[in-house]
Amino acid sequence: MNECIIVGIRPQFIHLFGLFRDKALPEEITVINTGQHFSQNMSQIFLEELELPATVNLGMRSKEDGEYKLTRFVKELDPQPSKIYVIGDSTTTTIGAMVAKAFRLPLVHIEAGLRCNELIPEEVNRRFVDAISDELWAPTSYARANLLKEGVPGEVKLTANFRLSSFLEVIQKVEPKPCDVVCEFHRQNNVDDIARFKRIIDALTNSNRKVFWSVHPRISSNPACRTYLLKPMGNVTISEPLGYLEWLSYLKGADTVITDSGGVQLEAYELGKEIITLRSDVEWKHTLDRSKLIGDNLEQLEEILS
Ligand code: UDP
Repeated sequence: MNECIIVGIRPQFIHLFGLFRDKALPEEITVINTGQHFSQNMSQIFLEELELPATVNLGMRSKEDGEYKLTRFVKELDPQPSKIYVIGDSTTTTIGAMVAKAFRLPLVHIEAGLRCNELIPEEVNRRFVDAISDELWAPTSYARANLLKEGVPGEVKLTANFRLSSFLEVIQKVEPKPCDVVCEFHRQNNVDDIARFKRIIDALTNSNRKVFWSVHPRISSNPACRTYLLKPMGNVTISEPLGYLEWLSYLKGADTVITDSGGVQLEAYELGKEIITLRSDVEWKHTLDRSKLIGDNLEQLEEILS
């Protein structure tokens, strides 16, 4: 038996903690980190804080490079893996799935069946991986229903929501840091559409409310966005991405959460926070009964923050 799980981005490191905690994976498993998230505060800090097992880091530089390095790595494994697990909806998920299928290895997709019904990159990744997986672990009954309705060829299983397992364990250890609004967003349409990005920043900057904003590297590495970070921002405190424990202390202490992150929506919902979602639809559908979808109506955001 030589099972492998492939991770590479912040939410996958968090997820891994829940998978081990719930004993959903064999104790002996090779953890392969593609290195998609490479900065210390998006990767290593999670491995250390959550005391995750040692990982092999492939140091991928692009999707193609990641696929090449993972192919080479899996080819040299002796014995060959008996199963490959991938998680979620990232480039790492897709690369892992493609390499598993290239070697004709059984593929398990963890967090399968989520749908936001917009063809954003994350949805493309999920649909692709769901279509080629042998086992699909659905974290909710509506995710399971999506898979059955689509008639995916693999075996669909309803499992625990391991991302939530991680959160529920870690949140108990965290003292709340009182703050009014916390903010974290990074999806393509909120960052690469610079006019939209500017309106979001203006709404935050012009607000009388105190905002704590954890700035995702997709924003700080975009030169057009970066110029806005250098200007005075009123009551907004900006921060590098934080480790899980510190971030959760802000989340726990907040009244309102502004986000486009699936994971943050899920966590803010569990904490009973007011959630403002910078999207038109979401994959964690149960959060919709308490979150406000901003979609294209940015005036709504300006009103909430005024
Ligand atoms: N998070 C974190 N530090 C931060 C911001 C977010 O640890 O500064 C956590 C957050 O609590 C959530 C996860 O990162 O569990 C979300 O990751 P991301 O938004 O990158 O991915 P998504 O959930 O959208 O797949």
